[in-house]
Amino acid sequence: MLAEGGEEAKVLAGGQSLLPMLRLRLARAELVVDVNRVPQLRGVWEEADSLVIGAMTTHHDVIHDELVRRHAPLLAAATETVGDPAVRHRGTLGGSLAHADPAGDLPPVVLVLNGELVAEGPRGRRTIPAAEFFVDCLTTALKPDELLVECRVPKLGEGWGFHYEKFRLSAQAPALVGVAVAVRRENGGIAEARVGLTNMGATPLRAATVEVALAGADATAEAVGRAAEAAAEGTSAMYDLSTSPEYRAHLARVLTRRAVLAAAGSE
Ligand SMILES: Cc1cc2nc3c(=O)[nH]c(=O)nc-3n(C[C@H](O)[C@H](O)[C@H](O)COP(=O)(O)OP(=O)(O)OC[C@H]3O[C@@H](n4cnc5c(N)ncnc54)[C@H](O)[C@@H]3O)c2cc1C
Repeated sequence: MLAEGGEEAKVLAGGQSLLPMLRLRLARAELVVDVNRVPQLRGVWEEADSLVIGAMTTHHDVIHDELVRRHAPLLAAATETVGDPAVRHRGTLGGSLAHADPAGDLPPVVLVLNGELVAEGPRGRRTIPAAEFFVDCLTTALKPDELLVECRVPKLGEGWGFHYEKFRLSAQAPALVGVAVAVRRENGGIAEARVGLTNMGATPLRAATVEVALAGADATAEAVGRAAEAAAEGTSAMYDLSTSPEYRAHLARVLTRRAVLAAAGSE
């Protein structure tokens, strides 16, 4: 059906972003394909070293899933900050990723977990690394006739700590900036750190300079604070009605410091 509809067809998942976009005339659809009654698209399961989350799994189900809490707690933590209970009961992980809102909390999490997105369409199935999936503001690598069917994240074993830190102007407002962190501790220090940024550009970004500075660093407030100073390097935060790029850069530094210390267990 998507192939027949071409550019004018839209998938309806939870409708939490699609319906506002249609109502505001920011999106057009001649054909809406509702995939809510496709049970194969829902649920969480394990495949070898990966956790697989069906695209239509709601935020509520992700938060409460035992496998997600054990193998991808960062995803559960970030999803808990999404909207309100009504939004979390209808909205889906796949919808959030396919929507690719720069202020979305979940794209940087999937980026930090080195996740992969599985798309299916008339030409078959293909797997897209998260680093290649988010192409631009509200734009992904999905073709108009493709459905996002799964999100796959490698299970991270012992020694990893996680934290999602978000700053917003009021409850339920979108993140001005969010920081998703995964840290591997070794011998009391930080062996490896991954830092993902929400709303610091048109797509989710990794704070590469911070990650390099943290590899082998002490998990102290001083060392982490020094590394976090580079959090806005290479970013292109937008000017909007809420704030300036300079303030976003300030938030990125402060939130990165907090998130890394929390993930490393050194708050
Ligand atoms: C009041 C409110 C507060 C919110 N707060 C937050 C927040 O704090 N943080 C946050 O991250 N998000 C927030 N959101 C957005 C929310 O997370 C949505 O659930 C999410 O953005 C879209 O998911 P959905 O399942 O509703 O998708 P839909 O709205 O149905 O679809 C969104 C887009 O993705 C496409 N799409 C959906 N599923 C697929 C698929 N499987 N394959 C291909 N394309 C697909 C649709 O065609 C559409 O273009 C909020 C929304 C509202 C209404």
